[in-house]
Amino acid sequence: MDIVKIETKYFTLHRLAEGVYAAIAKPGKGAWSNAGVVDLGDELLVFDSFSTPSAARELKKQAEMISGKKVKYLINSHYHGDHVFGNQVFEDATIISTSLTNKWFREQNTIHDVQKEIEETKQYLHNLRNQIEKAEDNITKVSLLKQYEEMSKVLEELPHLKTVLPSVIFEKHLVIHGSKRTVELHCLGGGHSPSDTFLYLPDDKIAFMGDIITEDLHLPIYNPKEFLTILENVKQMDMKTVVPGHGEVGTLAFGEILINYLSFLIKKVMDAQQNNISMNDFISEFMMPSEYANWKGVNGITRNLTTVYNFYAGKHE
Ligand SMILES: [Zn+2]
Repeated sequence: MDIVKIETKYFTLHRLAEGVYAAIAKPGKGAWSNAGVVDLGDELLVFDSFSTPSAARELKKQAEMISGKKVKYLINSHYHGDHVFGNQVFEDATIISTSLTNKWFREQNTIHDVQKEIEETKQYLHNLRNQIEKAEDNITKVSLLKQYEEMSKVLEELPHLKTVLPSVIFEKHLVIHGSKRTVELHCLGGGHSPSDTFLYLPDDKIAFMGDIITEDLHLPIYNPKEFLTILENVKQMDMKTVVPGHGEVGTLAFGEILINYLSFLIKKVMDAQQNNISMNDFISEFMMPSEYANWKGVNGITRNLTTVYNFYAGKHE
């Protein structure tokens, strides 16, 4: 199949199959994470809404232009702002998530006082600036700079940001039968966030993974054990094309890399705890394996070492 790419200011739209597109974010432009477009036949579905209404508006425009249909469904993979702050653009569509994502969305993303939110974001950016100046290695500097750019875009749109919550709620699985294509939503638990949903197209063997699969990133971990179980289950599925929450279009090899990463972190933590090594010593003595040396992330591997250490503290005996 010929590869069709559409360039926009915010993202590149890649055609993965007839009527299936991955919107891969361009860094620092207001998209921040990847999204997807699926033509179901009579209806049109979008997976995730980016980090700003401007990027989401472009996504909606492109999706409706290439399909000639109006967006009917928006899926929220999880509650993180970089995947859902564009929701307001899809207010007319049916927004779908798990009940847990809906709950966390409401609790974490609701803006009570916009002025306060703006001040806090400015302060956060100011702190990031200081960290960027002090950063000793290049990977950290690049990661912090990227965070700075992405958050600046969110700040620009904060005055007009509205949190629009999902209204159709499911627990573990939801199937949408379109006239031409069936879409499966799966939530196998919470690994990266309290509840992570991915979208699977059984006929095309294409999956939009949200942040349970990312590329070369020390992605935040919510529950390392459940994360590993989710990925082991995903590995059993017949997926040809995998769209990560962050990174380029790939295959299940991304999942394998993350399984190794999580297994490695868990093993290191278990060993340290069995030898009564304190968290501070564990982190300061930790040697970064070369395969993760170029992975990005504002807190590097340190935050994940901390999360996994805390998770297993007292749990391994
Ligand atoms: Zn996330």
